[in-house]
Amino acid sequence: MLRIEALEKRYKTGDHALKGVSFAIEPGQVVGLIGPSGAGKSSLIRCINRLVEPTGGKILLGEIDIASMNRGELRQVRRRIGMIFQEYALVERLTVMENVLSGRLGYVPFWRSFTRRFPQADVDKAFALLDRVGLSDHVDKRADALSGGQRQRVGIARALEQDPELLLIDEPTASLDPKTSRQIMRLICEICAERNLPAIINIHDVNLAQMFVDRIIGLRAGEVVFDGKPDALTNDV
Ligand code: ADP
Ligand code: ADP
Repeated sequence: MLRIEALEKRYKTGDHALKGVSFAIEPGQVVGLIGPSGAGKSSLIRCINRLVEPTGGKILLGEIDIASMNRGELRQVRRRIGMIFQEYALVERLTVMENVLSGRLGYVPFWRSFTRRFPQADVDKAFALLDRVGLSDHVDKRADALSGGQRQRVGIARALEQDPELLLIDEPTASLDPKTSRQIMRLICEICAERNLPAIINIHDVNLAQMFVDRIIGLRAGEVVFDGKPDALTNDV
């Protein structure tokens, strides 16, 4: 599925963010990535979607090595990876449906009312996803009329629109209250189980991670210092 081998990231500034990180994820497995600030969590996520270029090692998604792809090949591979962001990254002036459909395009069109330009099958699929995340009554609302929890539900539906093989999720609950955070984590983990979809969630709230994820990987100073079941995690990681 996803196999990371001896991944290295050294920034031009000299910061050695990842020092030989290795792990593999099975289909349907939700991994919580934890560790103190500066541990390398964002660098790891950004290497996997190649927002930054690794300086060593391999990132194998199926048969291909993301670490060694050129710019042209990247577009293809990014379509196989769904991203969910802390601040949702929705387009405020677009409707819920339009935001989800933009996940299919991979970019945001500048023209208005573009839903009717999509094949009905795409719209039906987006509607089914919105129904699954609990937003079937809100499809035509503008994104800026939604609560934080609803916004993140749109973010989840948008990430699923392209049928990704992997979800990369950056601090999905950092802007949400505790109750909404639990609802969002539960939803993400349920959907991954239903679709046999693996996910890596960068999550600073260790208790929240322990409640929901299948496995925790702890990073510290660019190295894996814990990798196991959430209930095996002790205070000193
Ligand atoms: P975390 O997400 O766990 O807080 P990061 O991956 O952001 O960790 O950072 C890991 C290390 O890499 C830190 O020392 C940080 O200063 C450094 N770093 C992160 N991004 C950059 C960058 N763009 N340029 C230089 N150094 C960076
Ligand atoms: P409305 O729903 O308000 O009629 P439209 O979606 O029809 O809005 O289009 C709004 C504007 O965007 C129009 O000027 C149209 O020509 C332009 N437009 C529509 N589709 C595209 C496209 N695929 N590429 C570039 N411009 C487009």
